[in-house]
Amino acid sequence: MSQYNKNLLVLLIELFSITIQCSPAAGEGRSKEVAPGVYMIGDLSFSNCGYIVTDEGVVVVDTQLIPFFANEMIKEIKAITNKPIKYAINTHWHTDHVGGNEAFLPQTRIIAHEFTRKIIAKRRKEQEEGKVDESLKQLGEFKFTPPDITFDESMTLYMGNTVIELKFFGGGHSGGDIVVYLPKEKVLFSGDLFIKGSGLPDYRDDSNIDKLISSLRKMQALDIEKIISGHMDIAEKKDIQTSIDKLISFRKQVKKYVDANIPPEKAAESIKFPEGENPFYEQNFKKVIHKVYNDIKNVKH
Ligand SMILES: [Zn+2]
Repeated sequence: MSQYNKNLLVLLIELFSITIQCSPAAGEGRSKEVAPGVYMIGDLSFSNCGYIVTDEGVVVVDTQLIPFFANEMIKEIKAITNKPIKYAINTHWHTDHVGGNEAFLPQTRIIAHEFTRKIIAKRRKEQEEGKVDESLKQLGEFKFTPPDITFDESMTLYMGNTVIELKFFGGGHSGGDIVVYLPKEKVLFSGDLFIKGSGLPDYRDDSNIDKLISSLRKMQALDIEKIISGHMDIAEKKDIQTSIDKLISFRKQVKKYVDANIPPEKAAESIKFPEGENPFYEQNFKKVIHKVYNDIKNVKH
């Protein structure tokens, strides 16, 4: 591992309070083949990414936090196949899933939901105008790169014998979450819409707990054997119900405070961080409670 890589990992650990596994270098067996031609890389930084090798080229799902990790990903793909990387899909706009887009240009087209493109384009503009916050600056030189192919509801890529379906279920984790579904292989890339063991929404403005529950229910209609999510381990279809149950129970907990007209600050003091939850949410847990409180108040139950 290079000095730059080590320094970056230390920074990421500080920034995100997350333990990052330092395992083999790129091209040395990071890729896990979950179904024929369908790979997951789970230990490159702190979010998962994946790729699908088809007769007509490679399709990448999520591009990591910054071009440095995306380049590691590209090396890893090149160790498996010499086919060109035709498309990179962004499941949603959060930086740990799209920050590496730039590394795939110019040969790769980037696909996402229209909402995701709008946010990334806005962040690119802010970058160009020097209006970025300190944590982003610390990630070094990189340019937010907006997708050049977008859709609103669904689209399908026919890549030789491989069918790749992209679906928008209404969002919930963000305003533009899409999933990548391979009907023949029965594999789903769920982005952060579904994360194994997690039953919390995101804390940012465009998240919404009710949309999240509704999207997960739509996800359950798919015939799935394996789920590669944006964080944590590979999951199975039954794990989606566990997340729905956790979300419903968390919503009920927060709703008690809304119904009793107790301010969200009190709720944030009293409600405990759920056991087994994605550790990324721990540092933002109070913000999550505020967000859910306001979402419930806005729909009036
Ligand atoms: Zn996310």
